Amino acid sequence: MSGNTPEESTQLQMMRLLWPSVIVVQAIHAAADLQLAELLANRPMTVDELARATGADPASLVRLLRALTSVGVFAEEPAGCFGQTPLSDTLRRDAPQSMFAWARIWPDLFWDPCSELSHTVMTGEPAFESIYGQPFFAFLGDHPEAAAVFNAAMGSGPLVQPLVATYDFNQFAEIVDVGGGHGALLDAILMANPAPRCVLFDLPDVVDGAAALRRNEVAGRCTIVGGDFFQSVPPGADAYVLKSVIHDWNDDQAVKILANCRRAMDATGVLLVAETISNPAQQAAAAMMDLLLMVMTYGRKRTEAEYCRILQSAGFELARVIPTTGPSLLECRPV
Ligand code: SAH
Repeated sequence: MSGNTPEESTQLQMMRLLWPSVIVVQAIHAAADLQLAELLANRPMTVDELARATGADPASLVRLLRALTSVGVFAEEPAGCFGQTPLSDTLRRDAPQSMFAWARIWPDLFWDPCSELSHTVMTGEPAFESIYGQPFFAFLGDHPEAAAVFNAAMGSGPLVQPLVATYDFNQFAEIVDVGGGHGALLDAILMANPAPRCVLFDLPDVVDGAAALRRNEVAGRCTIVGGDFFQSVPPGADAYVLKSVIHDWNDDQAVKILANCRRAMDATGVLLVAETISNPAQQAAAAMMDLLLMVMTYGRKRTEAEYCRILQSAGFELARVIPTTGPSLLECRPV
């Protein structure tokens, strides 16, 4: 340690841990709600112009903008103007891989359960269920507005392209995406690969919203099926994909879903589980995600060894783990 650098007190380190990220999330959420990124898409604007366009209080709006510029979201330009940055541009609703829905999902869906984390630690019950009186996915079925926020976030952002760029999906004739949401992954697979036909499988209310797969470019190679993966999944495909699904469930439930995939395929089929794995390289991200899963659901993050165990119970072996810049791909084969 250099003699000139005063050591940061542990209290100051704790202070840094305690408050900034909370206020950053809310500031980004406020900016997304006011659609500031859309307004600044083509040219910088003064605070007064932005206040007029949004109906906001100019004196408060400028403080919001200055706070956001400090983390690279928008930039202050000469003459009291604010402009777009690469980060703020991701908040436009029509930006490629827009992060708008992610800016909403934290405050709208995850915030209250996270604030009851200690309830979950004391009881083992997801805080979500103690607050809303029903499991997360049942709640989404009864609350279309919340479902719209969740499904929009799942269908956007940076997690799909790394999978499509890394793995050869063109080797398959038919791919079923189990719990595929609104079909963002299948849409990307179909656009990048001429060979496969695809089946989107999710709860009936959810697949109703799969607008992307009803576009002319892909509709002819895609079937949309509503159902319950605890009952069965569409049979006979040569590949089954489960992305960000298994982590929502406890081991018994996860084995049930995997076993239903096993029953649906023949001995030459391939199962692809796309998940962030708990490992040293992704430790912090996986550990925090694990807490979120704990307050929202009975699910969890798992290590490779933990995946091996549940896969084995369902009649699969883990053939290889393929890292991507997004989730890892666990390529599994029937045994
Ligand atoms: N695979 C998508 C969505 C992951 S979220 C993605 O990675 O973006 C988990 C998905 O599981 C949701 O779309 C949810 O609707 C679906 N799901 C939850 N319970 C289900 C059930 N019983 N049967 C079928 N799908 C279900």
